[in-house]
Amino acid sequence: MSSKKVTVVGAGIIGASIAWHLTEAGAEVTLISSERGGVATPRSFAWINASWGNSHAYFGFRARAMQEWKRLAAAVPAIPYTECGGICWDLPPEQLKAYAEEHAGWGYDIRTVTREEIARMEPHLADLPQFALHAAGEAAADPLATAQALIDGAKAKGAKLLEETVLSLDMENGRIIGLATSEGNHETDEIILAAGVGAVSLAATAGITLPVKSPPGLLVHSKPTGKILNGLVIGEKAHIRQTGDGRIVAGSDFGGTDPGTEPDKAAAELFQTVQAMLPGAGLELDHYTVGYRPTPKDGLPIIGPTSCEGLYVAVMHSGVTLAPLVGKLVAAEVLAEPQDELLAPYRLSRFASIADA
Ligand SMILES: Cc1cc2nc3c(=O)[nH]c(=O)nc-3n(C[C@H](O)[C@H](O)[C@H](O)COP(=O)(O)OP(=O)(O)OC[C@H]3O[C@@H](n4cnc5c(N)ncnc54)[C@H](O)[C@@H]3O)c2cc1C
Repeated sequence: MSSKKVTVVGAGIIGASIAWHLTEAGAEVTLISSERGGVATPRSFAWINASWGNSHAYFGFRARAMQEWKRLAAAVPAIPYTECGGICWDLPPEQLKAYAEEHAGWGYDIRTVTREEIARMEPHLADLPQFALHAAGEAAADPLATAQALIDGAKAKGAKLLEETVLSLDMENGRIIGLATSEGNHETDEIILAAGVGAVSLAATAGITLPVKSPPGLLVHSKPTGKILNGLVIGEKAHIRQTGDGRIVAGSDFGGTDPGTEPDKAAAELFQTVQAMLPGAGLELDHYTVGYRPTPKDGLPIIGPTSCEGLYVAVMHSGVTLAPLVGKLVAAEVLAEPQDELLAPYRLSRFASIADA
């Protein structure tokens, strides 16, 4: 067990997971955040996957994270995790076939399903394709409830929670000595910055540049309804799933899309598309959300120590998929010192050679 003192800034799903894993290892944790449960986290589609479009190495990282979800959900029963599987046909047929072949070769549990099989799996869905792919291990978890369950778990093991806005990181001779918040100054010699898009301006106060964009993502949420979906639907026109409380949540893409200058109109149009995919369900729009996705410029996570001694960063997209693995690896690395090879591709230092970083 460790007796190290660590301050985690950010209580979205990433900061919450790191704090939970640190307290499990016996560390003394202070968790500081302006919004408990996160900023991007509660506005996320929350599809847990290692789907198409990534390198073999990053696929492997994500697939490992999917396994770590099982461990974390078993350890924290309050986490609403469901391994519901996903049906995907949001690529042209040739690309779908190539995706299935590639990922099956990498060990992903994926197979082709016919129109008839899709109709059996999701009887409420209309406008079905000739074929799609089914990934049985894909999952979802209410992201806000997950973050809250992890925060509660960390608190039960002694973590101190401060609902404060961090204004700057304080340094002396190139090392962290504390931070200044809306409520005053705190001394600390180890900070893990897991503040999502908010990490960019905070890191800058320590002279660290984080090449992170924050694209907006519109999602629509229906009023709760009876069970009409069994799993994730990554369809051509929209990505949809049903939450534990019966809402249909959907985006043109799981990451949401830019709502432009007329978000009400964009949300209404998107919801019409969703209604057409689930006719007869009597879906009613409840509300829409626009979340800003913490997205490093090359799409890969930024995880690791910085050139400022005592400052560690953990900022990423796909944070819902990655949270259990990232929490585990970061806690182990921060407490045990030796760097974990699995995290090697995700260091901030990789941007040093990119001209526009
Ligand atoms: C529309 C949308 C769809 C998405 N879909 C998926 C998906 O399907 N699958 C997936 O894996 N990922 C998805 N993501 C990405 C995922 O949600 C994020 O990667 C993840 O939520 C990031 O979590 P986080 O804890 O790093 O950041 P956040 O949830 O943004 O939390 C940041 C925390 O830092 C705190 N903070 C920030 N600045 C300060 C400050 N100055 N002082 C104090 N506290 C501060 C905030 O209060 C908050 O607690 C999606 C995101 C969006 C927006």
